[in-house]
Amino acid sequence: MSQSDRHGLVIIGAGQGGLSAAIHARLLGWEVTVIEASEQAGGKAASIAIDGYRLDPGPSIIILPDIYRDVFRRAGRDPEDYVKFDRLDPVTRVFFERLHEPIDLPASADDAVEALSKHARSDGPALQRLLSTLDRVAPAIERTVLARPIEKWWHLADPRLARAAMAFDPQLTYKELVDNMFSSPLLRSFFYGFPSYSGQTYDSKAAGALLIPYFMFRHGVWFPEGGVGAIPRAFVRLARELGVKFLFKTRAVGLRTEGTRVAAVETDDGEIPASAVVSNLDRVTVGAMFGRPLPKRTSFSYLTFHWGVRDTLEGLAHHTLLVPEGFEKGFEDLYRRRQVPVGNEIVYLNDTSASGGAPVGKTNLFAVLTVPAGKTLYSDRSVEESRQSVLAHLSRRGWKFDPLDGDFERVQTPVTFAESHGNHEGSLYGPDETERLWGLLPLTNRDPEFKNLFYCGGSVQPGAGLPMVTLSGQFAAKLLGPPR
Ligand SMILES: Cc1cc2nc3c(=O)[nH]c(=O)nc-3n(C[C@H](O)[C@H](O)[C@H](O)COP(=O)(O)OP(=O)(O)OC[C@H]3O[C@@H](n4cnc5c(N)ncnc54)[C@H](O)[C@@H]3O)c2cc1C
Repeated sequence: MSQSDRHGLVIIGAGQGGLSAAIHARLLGWEVTVIEASEQAGGKAASIAIDGYRLDPGPSIIILPDIYRDVFRRAGRDPEDYVKFDRLDPVTRVFFERLHEPIDLPASADDAVEALSKHARSDGPALQRLLSTLDRVAPAIERTVLARPIEKWWHLADPRLARAAMAFDPQLTYKELVDNMFSSPLLRSFFYGFPSYSGQTYDSKAAGALLIPYFMFRHGVWFPEGGVGAIPRAFVRLARELGVKFLFKTRAVGLRTEGTRVAAVETDDGEIPASAVVSNLDRVTVGAMFGRPLPKRTSFSYLTFHWGVRDTLEGLAHHTLLVPEGFEKGFEDLYRRRQVPVGNEIVYLNDTSASGGAPVGKTNLFAVLTVPAGKTLYSDRSVEESRQSVLAHLSRRGWKFDPLDGDFERVQTPVTFAESHGNHEGSLYGPDETERLWGLLPLTNRDPEFKNLFYCGGSVQPGAGLPMVTLSGQFAAKLLGPPR
């Protein structure tokens, strides 16, 4: 290693993004040290054991498993030796309050279209047309925006992207696109939520968010054997085999700079000299360390309730959606008023009891609400209102239990994500879209000021979600390049 790279690479944070960056940088020849504030790797995707339950308190909808498998292949390994994925069928169960029976969306896209068409007859052909259009769009996105960081506007001047962009009217917002395609409340309720997964609203020009349901329908929804935490565990194993060093319970508190370079990471346990740094810590949070202005508005987050119920709750699928009457107002509160919707919010439920997540005869129930980021919105009283609202939604479907009489109750709010994971105001997607790259893309993986500082994770390209942050680690390593 030359003089300039003698200290090696320091990665701040062992979330899925940081783990991916560590592996990709190591494959380029870097000496890599990962410093992690908590005692385990995985960040939001790390699992937690409580009284015989295995909790996945973060991501639960696992799509695009080839993105993880490719990392193992790149390291010359067989991914099956590290983590195995089972395809879920149904993809999800939808309890639409206006219908008596739930609707199961089967794993096959054609069957899912048929299942939805039964209740929204006129929208079946529209859904089929949308999937066919996205069959053409998806490969173009995979080979461009998901293949490399976009740093200059002319990176977007790619004929493949231009063709993909023409598939949808660029003047229309996401909501207008969805409303023009689908007339039934059922299909609208299913589609309205997806822009929030990329930190956008349905009033954004967010046609790209249509790819999330597309990937679910066309490529399936998966569950890793051993729970979601098996993914970061597999990445840690590979990283260690490749020679990556981990320092747990070590918190980065600052970066020492010399001119236009970062010279060292300051931690609560002393300084670690670095030739280069990749931060898995939110780019906005790192910016604040340098005194950069904070975004005026943040994007979205989650409010979650996790219950160890001492009973089996019949009728839940692995993934279940509860869509209440008046869900339209819930979305208006979320997207337009930036309020926590209460009473008319869609509740996503995850029950992993049948896949080893709970002791026999008990239920591991995880309820997730999409909410605005912003710590001040979450007082004890407002969280209790949401808790009561979720319990009321469950009770209306016949799932009645006393959470205080369960094996555990665990609540996460945007305050949790701010304090435990370093996300600015608890936002999982970085700044609001108005402050993104050209109001369109997540921020880049390169620091604007310091030449040897790069970013991975949900606050930067290509975006949030486990598969995307895995790609973000690859992007950061690509920009870093091999040691000189
Ligand atoms: C409730 C919930 C549900 C979700 N559902 C899904 C889903 O269904 N599907 C999906 O794909 N995605 C989902 N996501 C999003 C997904 O979990 C995230 O996008 C992804 O896990 C973020 O990974 P990351 O690498 O950016 O960061 P993180 O997982 O936040 O990791 C950051 C790491 O940095 C460490 N750290 C923080 N500060 C410091 C410091 N100062 N020094 C050292 N270390 C530090 C943290 O301890 C943590 O380990 C969900 C997220 C949540 C919270």
